[in-house]
Order: sequence, then structure tokens, then C-alpha cells
Amino acid sequence: MDQQAKEQLIHAVATAIFDHAEELTALDQAIGDGDHGINLKRGFEAVVAELPGLATKPWPDLFKAAGMAMVMKVGGASGPLFGTFFLEFGKTIGAEPDHAAVVSAFSRAIEAVKSRGRSEAGQKTLLDVLVPVGIVMSDGGDAQAIKAEAIASAERTVPLKAIRGRASFLGERSIGHMDPGARSSSLIIVAAVDALKNQGLLQ
Ligand code: ADP
Ligand code: MG
Repeated sequence: MDQQAKEQLIHAVATAIFDHAEELTALDQAIGDGDHGINLKRGFEAVVAELPGLATKPWPDLFKAAGMAMVMKVGGASGPLFGTFFLEFGKTIGAEPDHAAVVSAFSRAIEAVKSRGRSEAGQKTLLDVLVPVGIVMSDGGDAQAIKAEAIASAERTVPLKAIRGRASFLGERSIGHMDPGARSSSLIIVAAVDALKNQGLLQ
């Protein structure tokens, strides 16, 4: 992927977060402290501020820089978790990734998030999107299948009771709301998949 394509990909993901920052904040107002949209917007602003230089970097360095920006700028519980995801993804992806490399980097990154968050799928967190999307990817799902799973899995957090993160303080009252981190993860995945599809890199 050339520099321009990498830049487009980063812009697409950042724009998805900017366009939905208020929605993410509203979701976090319902079961958290109402900062998730603001947190992620700040993080992706920092990533975009590193363009175009960031897009000249090979994948491992690009994801390392993006992960560091997440850790430093997003804050909250989600900053270190998204940061961990990108940092670990960058460690595994390699400079010229094929489909198998992306699947394996995604899976390693999920494991790193689980250990960082002491969490697993089913606890009403971003893992409830990352884990099922990882399965669709490793099963060879196409762009449409990956996007559909990202959206559906975020919806499936609505009836869950939060076991991790700030929402867990609400206990049963966390039921009936979509998890903000699950929603933001699905937005990032959908935007990335659309960008890769437009570039002809994904069917
Ligand atoms: P904070 O909760 O510190 O205000 P954010 O609002 O930015 O941070 O992010 C909240 C999101 O972080 C939640 O919706 C959830 O998806 C995710 N999250 C919180 N704690 C954990 C955890 N231990 N493991 C996985 N994800 C978590
Ligand atoms: Mg919050």
C-alpha cells in the first residue's frame, strides 16, 4: 500500500470517529462518564496531526506511532486498550502483510487487550466486537461479512450486563444500552474495511 492509500485509510478511520463523537459521548453518558467520544476524538486528532509523515512509515512503525498516540492522548480506560491493540498489531503485522498476517496480528492484538484489561468477550466491552470480528476474519469473511459482524456485535452488547470498566459500577442498570467502546470499535472496523475495499485490497 502506498503513502496516499495509507493516508486515506487513516483519514477514513479518524473521520468516522469525528462524525460519531457525539453519539459515542451519549452512549458513555448512559452507562459511564460521558467522555468516550471526546477521548477518542482527541486521540485521532493527534494521529491525523502526524500526517502526512505517519503515512510514509512502514506498517509496524505506523501502528506503533498510532498506538502511542492513543495511549498518550485518549486517556480513560479505553486509551491504553486501543493503544495496546495498535501497538501489538504493529509488532506482529510485518511490512508487507498478506491476509494471514493481518488475521494473526488481529488475533495477537486481541490477546494483548484481554490481558491489559483483564477482560474477555461477554463482559460488555470493546472485546465483544473485536473477538467476533476476529473470528469472521480468520474464517475468510469478505468486506461485507466483516462489516456486518462489527455492526451486529456492537448491537449485541445492548442486553449484556457490564462486568468490566466504569459501566460495571451500574450492575443491572448497565443492561439496555450499547457499550460505547464496542460501538467505537465497530465504527473503526467499518471505516477501515470500506477504505481497504475502495482501494481494491479487500473483496
Ligand atoms: P473511561 O471508562 O475511563 O471513561 P472511556 O469512556 O474512554 O474510558 O472508554 C470506555 C470503554 O472502555 C467501555 O465502553 C469499554 O468498551 C472499554 N473498557 C473499559 N474497561 C475495559 C476493560 N477492562 N477491558 C476491555 N474494555 C474495557
Ligand atoms: Mg468514559
